[in-house]
Amino acid sequence: MKQSIRGRLSFIIIFCAVVAVLLSALIVNKTITDTFNKYMENIQTQRNERLVQYFQQVYKSDGGWNLTSGEEMMHEAYMSNYCLSLLDENKKVVWEMNHEDIKSKNYMTMNGTQETGVYMTSTFDINVNNKTVGYIIIGQYSPILLSQEDISFKTQINKSIVFSGVLTLLIVSVISLILSKQFSEPIKEVSKTSVSLSKGNYNSRSNIKSNIEEITNLTESINDLGEKLNSQDLLRKRLISDISHEIRTPLNILQNNLEAMIDGIIPVTTDKLNNLNDEVIRFGKLLNNLNVLKQIESNEIALKLGLVNIEELLSNIINDFYIAADEKNIKLIMNKQENKSFIVLGDYDKLKQVFINLISNSIKFNNINGTVWINISSDIKSVKIKIKDNGIGIKKEDLPYIFERMYRGDKSRQKIEGSGIGLTLVKKILTLHSGTIDVESKENKGTVFTVCINKKD
Ligand code: ADP
Repeated sequence: MKQSIRGRLSFIIIFCAVVAVLLSALIVNKTITDTFNKYMENIQTQRNERLVQYFQQVYKSDGGWNLTSGEEMMHEAYMSNYCLSLLDENKKVVWEMNHEDIKSKNYMTMNGTQETGVYMTSTFDINVNNKTVGYIIIGQYSPILLSQEDISFKTQINKSIVFSGVLTLLIVSVISLILSKQFSEPIKEVSKTSVSLSKGNYNSRSNIKSNIEEITNLTESINDLGEKLNSQDLLRKRLISDISHEIRTPLNILQNNLEAMIDGIIPVTTDKLNNLNDEVIRFGKLLNNLNVLKQIESNEIALKLGLVNIEELLSNIINDFYIAADEKNIKLIMNKQENKSFIVLGDYDKLKQVFINLISNSIKFNNINGTVWINISSDIKSVKIKIKDNGIGIKKEDLPYIFERMYRGDKSRQKIEGSGIGLTLVKKILTLHSGTIDVESKENKGTVFTVCINKKD
């Protein structure tokens, strides 16, 4: 059976309280009964001593026993529900009370019930001048005799115990309801948000305040999750529109041109065919990039690890880029820290892809006559590569997303050819190498990408 947190918590708290109250009531009751019994036994012992002393006095003042010696005690005994018998030194009865008389009388037992117990007697010596001159037998139907006041005192105490128990339970119940609400309400609220998120309402957030750390963490992480789902959703929508745009443009060009050629509107020249072939190549590159990305994302790629000299690798790439840079009259400048080794453990081809993407971006998003600086430095642990340009820069609001798949900065850049996959690949490859990449950029000023790759151990 499913139960709410609130119900379960209240049940546990109230159950514990009931057990605690019952236990303490039992212990208190037992302690009080024991103490009370001891007290009553004491009183009875004192009564017995008093009786013995009294009869000693009677013996002394009467100069022996006669039928009326101490008979005034009979009244007290009768009223207090016990029986007296006076015996002389030969254990001959001087006088005695009939215990049947008190048997018929109502008296109370320790339990407060009325019942007739077993008649028991105790015999006490009456000593005068170190000589036993007689005996007094005290008999009663209960080991301890209780008066009406004694009983009502005990009942009162028991009532107080029950009352305080009930009161405690009431208070605990109220507190448990309030307490469990403190737990259950925020959790209920957060679970509502998560259900709403799971239904696709990515704008749902919880705004409950709680001073319970775990609940605050839970709320924050659910809100974070909502935030991420929301941005992923936006990204996905943008990605679909980007991909369709990316594919539609070359496809349209191809279609229009091919149709025009078929209709004989434009002549079929090698130049024209070359242009159309470029579009097809661009198409192929896009699909290739998507394929590599898919492989990396589904962990299908295993790194072919080896020692890679980053300096050598960068020099090779820069050589390949001179022509492209020259077209925009962009200077490529490489600097390296002297007397350092730049050897890391990595996959040569994948790392090459990283720097090709970064350097091609810094040329692609640079202005005519711009510059690209490539800086290599190294410390004991890692090799650091900075790729800096003074190009168009990246908008502040775009910066957090540039490593996301298909993110291509603001729309006006769409005229610059690209697929928005390059940096995603860069980041993935570096992550596989336990490397990092950071970016700093100012719009219209330029961009710096800093790559850090751990050296071989
Ligand atoms: P693309 O194929 O569009 O170059 P990338 O993933 O390589 O895709 O880059 C994503 C986006 O990041 C680019 O569209 C661009 O807006 C921005 N970007 C990347 N590098 C630079 C740079 N050096 N200068 C300015 N913007 C850049």
